Amino acid sequence: MQTNSIIELSRSAYQNNIDFLKQLFGKKRILSSVVKGNAYGHGISEFVAMAYGCGINHFSVFDADEARQVHAVLSDKVTILIMGFLSEEDLPWIIENDIEFFVFDKKRLVSASRIAKKIHKKAIVHIEIETGMNRTGFEKSELKEIITILKKDADSLIFKGLCTHYAGAESIANYYRVEKQIKYFEEIHQYLIKNELKPEIVHSACSAAAIMFPATRMNLVRVGIMQYGLWPSQEVFVAYINSKKIKQDPLRRIITWKSTVMSLKKVKSGDFIGYGTSFMAKKNMKIAVIPIGYAHGYSRSLSNHGRILIQGQRCMVVGLVTMNMVAVDVTDINSVKKEEEVVLIGNQNDLAITIASFCDYSNQLNYELLTRISKTIPRKITD
Ligand SMILES: *Cc1c(COP(=O)(O)O)cnc(C)c1O
Repeated sequence: MQTNSIIELSRSAYQNNIDFLKQLFGKKRILSSVVKGNAYGHGISEFVAMAYGCGINHFSVFDADEARQVHAVLSDKVTILIMGFLSEEDLPWIIENDIEFFVFDKKRLVSASRIAKKIHKKAIVHIEIETGMNRTGFEKSELKEIITILKKDADSLIFKGLCTHYAGAESIANYYRVEKQIKYFEEIHQYLIKNELKPEIVHSACSAAAIMFPATRMNLVRVGIMQYGLWPSQEVFVAYINSKKIKQDPLRRIITWKSTVMSLKKVKSGDFIGYGTSFMAKKNMKIAVIPIGYAHGYSRSLSNHGRILIQGQRCMVVGLVTMNMVAVDVTDINSVKKEEEVVLIGNQNDLAITIASFCDYSNQLNYELLTRISKTIPRKITD
């Protein structure tokens, strides 16, 4: 286990976010916590345990491997839904453990039915519809056959959900495309009902869709980024606070990333710091070396741009971020000591390094930045 840095997850911040989202979406809707990408870098095992403690009992993952990780922590206390990849070999385990999953091709449906029969269980399927994202999902022309299978194999298949995913609800530029998707999805829903097939639940919304297009909330909302206290885009945030006439962000970031000062060094005016010549000291300087680099998810594009908090003060990254280390300018802080705590993301005293600022400097999407944080950093739940 690495000890050069630690990720803390704030339970009270998470509870705040969940309370807010539940109130916004209403009690009757299922709130599915999306924990793909190692729970957006938060650490899937620790995160789902905390989320369960805060009242979440539905999780959506990308693949069977993530489903196993959630199941290992919470077993059958929660519903687990696989939205993306699974292989044929995973199906017996999935069906045996009542793991639910998206179906977007006929082969998966036929295999699921066959394996369910063999192990005397029912496979719980969510039929995904292609409504305009053009990634996964059934076309309308394929549905006749799917309807036939679902009816014929009703003793081995539970038609739990009908679902789709939107192509960029976080930007107004995609407004017409998403509106068209919503309308088309409802058409397909009605088409199935006309064919005497009614899913138990219908769902389509991710965070952005749930905020920008309330009609997408339906029976269940698949919430990723917002539960972690971040907005899908600046646009969605502004639209929300304007519509509610509020000024403050109702969400709280739950992640804090800390490390320590590994060593201190004096650098003479005119000397270069780190590899190459990207930073030359223009005066005599003192630098602190932090044992974090791009191998841990601290982007190389933060070279000469990033900021790190030490003793409640913002310190500039100087020189290139290397694989395992980064140097920061601490010339103006007299009392910096080795092993002193530093904050890469989060608060220290009254200052904060927000994910937004981190993203701006490294030119990354908040989603991307978070999921790049190394899995091997220990995670700890705090209050
Ligand atoms: C990732 C994902 C979500 C959640 O998206 P956020 O923008 O993080 O809320 C919802 N549905 C599907 C199919 C996804 O892949």
